Amino acid sequence: MEPIFATERTRELLPRIREFVQNELYPLETTENLTHNFSHVEPILQQKRQLVKKAGLWGLHLPEEDGGLNLTLCEFGQVSEVLASSPFGHFVFNTQAPDIGNTELMHKYAPKHLKDKYLKPLMNGEIRSCFSMTEPEFAGSNPTMMGTTAVKEGDDYVINGHKWFTSSADGAAFLVVMAVTNPEAAPHKRASQILVPMDAPGVTLMRNIPIMGHAGDSWASHSEMRYENVRVPQANLIGAEGTGFLLAQERLGPGRIHHCMRFIGIAERSFDLMCRYAVTRKLDDAKVLGDMQFIQGFIAESRAEIDAARLLVLRTAHNIDLYGAANVRDEISMIKFSTANMMLRVIDRAIQTHGALGMTNDILLSFWYAHERAARIYDGADEVHKSALARSILKNYGLDLRRK
Ligand SMILES: Cc1cc2nc3c(=O)[nH]c(=O)nc-3n(C[C@H](O)[C@H](O)[C@H](O)COP(=O)(O)OP(=O)(O)OC[C@H]3O[C@@H](n4cnc5c(N)ncnc54)[C@H](O)[C@@H]3O)c2cc1C
Repeated sequence: MEPIFATERTRELLPRIREFVQNELYPLETTENLTHNFSHVEPILQQKRQLVKKAGLWGLHLPEEDGGLNLTLCEFGQVSEVLASSPFGHFVFNTQAPDIGNTELMHKYAPKHLKDKYLKPLMNGEIRSCFSMTEPEFAGSNPTMMGTTAVKEGDDYVINGHKWFTSSADGAAFLVVMAVTNPEAAPHKRASQILVPMDAPGVTLMRNIPIMGHAGDSWASHSEMRYENVRVPQANLIGAEGTGFLLAQERLGPGRIHHCMRFIGIAERSFDLMCRYAVTRKLDDAKVLGDMQFIQGFIAESRAEIDAARLLVLRTAHNIDLYGAANVRDEISMIKFSTANMMLRVIDRAIQTHGALGMTNDILLSFWYAHERAARIYDGADEVHKSALARSILKNYGLDLRRK
């Protein structure tokens, strides 16, 4: 059966991308590659990027004038699901977070000189970038509370601050730093986004923060950063001064579709591993795991949950394409927490089905279990999205639960 949101372009593209991911990337999912830091597998992934370019599949998410296909968000979501079936898919196609978000942001809001110097090589996959907003001292769930400042001096901004969970800072060429530029303005108009070259004096990558037993490096890392009297030209401002939160919000709408479709790709692959194992793992001469009702329950529930999540996310993407993210806020909140939790339930069932093997790094599941737990925290913790959605619903019933 044809997927509901299929278009001429997805019909043509998805089989080619699926074939590439299965033939070129699945063989790289070895115990060694899943256990070592990312830099171990990176050289071979760089070679695979050249194959993507040769196959004419590079930059799918980009506008036509930059060699892309102008895919709608709904179309790109479907691509994202296929890429996510391998942990290397998005990186090899240069559609990995946070670079894809920075690319979109800079396309719309960066001045020409920043586009020439940074956006072009970013789109070509020659450099990487990161987004530095969250601070250890303040609740990231309310980012208007922020200690990092950018003070004007002559033609420059002088930036001071402390950040953490700046994903992929290790090896990045530049950071998009969120800093308070207008302390007297209303809370949502105080901060701006400023491009800071990684080699600017005063920028220190203090450490890659270990996550669930993984030290992390290169693109697959989350860094703690210090900015001490970092001086950058005021021309490095992205968008207008004081629009930092507005731009961050704008980035998050499409960003959540990207993440959620990635979650669905991971859930679908975990489901596939679970089913394959269920039909081959013998319990005795007559029975395999799939004969057991508990395992059948895992399979039936997972199938229903993945399919329901996909419909919800693609409907949301479709509505963003039609009406803009600002008019689809409830759906964006809904998909973020529901899809992240669905993915984690499916991975968990797949691990349970594999028994001890599920805990090993010989197969993908434990890798995803460790790395994807964060999905319930970043881009808005579950609880934040749930209360935003509930508040919006209850408002229609006459209860105004605005923030006190
Ligand atoms: C793997 C990973 C990658 C990340 N990458 C980046 C990045 O690249 N750049 C960047 O700037 N940041 C990044 N972050 C940070 C992320 O955006 C924050 O962790 C997130 O915004 C939550 O902020 P916090 O951790 O300070 O939690 P807090 O805001 O302190 O919240 C802690 C917990 O309190 C609860 N809570 C919070 N608010 C509410 C509420 N209103 N109602 C009910 N409960 C609530 C939630 O359960 C939440 O998990 C990343 C985080 C992770 C884990």
